[in-house]
Amino acid sequence: MLTTTPGFDRIGEENAFAVLAKANALAAQGRDIINLGIGQPDFPTPSHIVEAAVKALRDGHHGYTPATGIPQLREAIAADMTMRSGVDTSPDDILVVPGGKVTMYLAIILFGEPGAEILYPDPGFPIYRSMIEYTGATPIPIPIKEENGFAFSPDDVAERITDKTRLVIINSPANPTGGVTPPDDVRRLVEILNQHPNVAVMSDEIYSRMTYDGLPHVSLASFPELRDRLILLDGFSKTYAMTGWRLGWSLWPKPLYDKVRKLAVNAWSCVNAPTQYAGIAALTGPQDDVTRMVEAFDDRRKAVVAALNALPGVSCATPKGAFYAFPNIKETGWKAKALADALLTETGVALIGGPDFGTLGEGYVRVSYAAAKDRILEAMGRMGDFLEKRA
Ligand code: PLP
Repeated sequence: MLTTTPGFDRIGEENAFAVLAKANALAAQGRDIINLGIGQPDFPTPSHIVEAAVKALRDGHHGYTPATGIPQLREAIAADMTMRSGVDTSPDDILVVPGGKVTMYLAIILFGEPGAEILYPDPGFPIYRSMIEYTGATPIPIPIKEENGFAFSPDDVAERITDKTRLVIINSPANPTGGVTPPDDVRRLVEILNQHPNVAVMSDEIYSRMTYDGLPHVSLASFPELRDRLILLDGFSKTYAMTGWRLGWSLWPKPLYDKVRKLAVNAWSCVNAPTQYAGIAALTGPQDDVTRMVEAFDDRRKAVVAALNALPGVSCATPKGAFYAFPNIKETGWKAKALADALLTETGVALIGGPDFGTLGEGYVRVSYAAAKDRILEAMGRMGDFLEKRA
């Protein structure tokens, strides 16, 4: 019998990958599957980014890079952060990581231990809770409510901070709800966080470029007073349609930077070199593809919300960001995961049950609209037929 450390018996996962595997297996059997489950842009990576990686390989960039990332990439990231936050950002505070997820892993293992409390959104990205459980810290859910537009409520955060709180995780625009915390609430949230100077904050802003209806994204990095305890998570996966490249980055407070740098040296040495060159091209090259992708998501968002609201028993608030809709299915009489399973096996439509994102996700399903519009509408048609037959 091999005995592993106890954290591994508590670790969870991301069911979107299991649904993807099941959807792919059904497709391999010849079924016509519409995948609205996985959260990844359906666009290819823009060609100038691909070309930069190919050129890097041809130019002989085959070796290790600095563990923190190649200087040019960190400079490009810092310049982008300075521009978007309005606060001067040094490349020395930027860590290049293999995918956005790695930052949450680092932040949570830095602060999680038995006796510590970590606040995280529920429903929210499932890896937050999984990693908190792994460390033995107590996960404290922050309720993310439909009646509040799926935004963070500053009061709900304030009520949950105790003297055991070590880390607060914020995510806007949000997965799985598409909620965006409006500027006034972000400011109130910062006021509350300012009252707790010993609590670290991880702001997951991986969907920062995707807000709609003119609602601005306000980065927590734009508040200089937070910078000494703010960990900002961002990356290339969603903005530049680069999920498979595994490239992300994070901003760290100075006292934490050297700790995570050492962990990078211990764990992965560096992100592969050609991918980092692709990252430079992404940030410093033309941004028209990003604009085009966001416009396409916006168009699909409107179509999917209208189609969802026409389904029997379904009501869907209009998401303000990311590329997810989180319709309320309570009136259909179905439990969310049972509905998601039945839809996949019986109609070939893959989506994710709300409970995969936390206990408050019951009664909802997540629909990723990062798919072609005609396929989204075809999926909505199949869902409508199914719900009418099986009401
Ligand atoms: N944070 C959120 C909220 C996400 O939805 C995702 C991916 O789905 C990530 C982080 C991780 O991104 P990456 O694929 O770059 O690891």
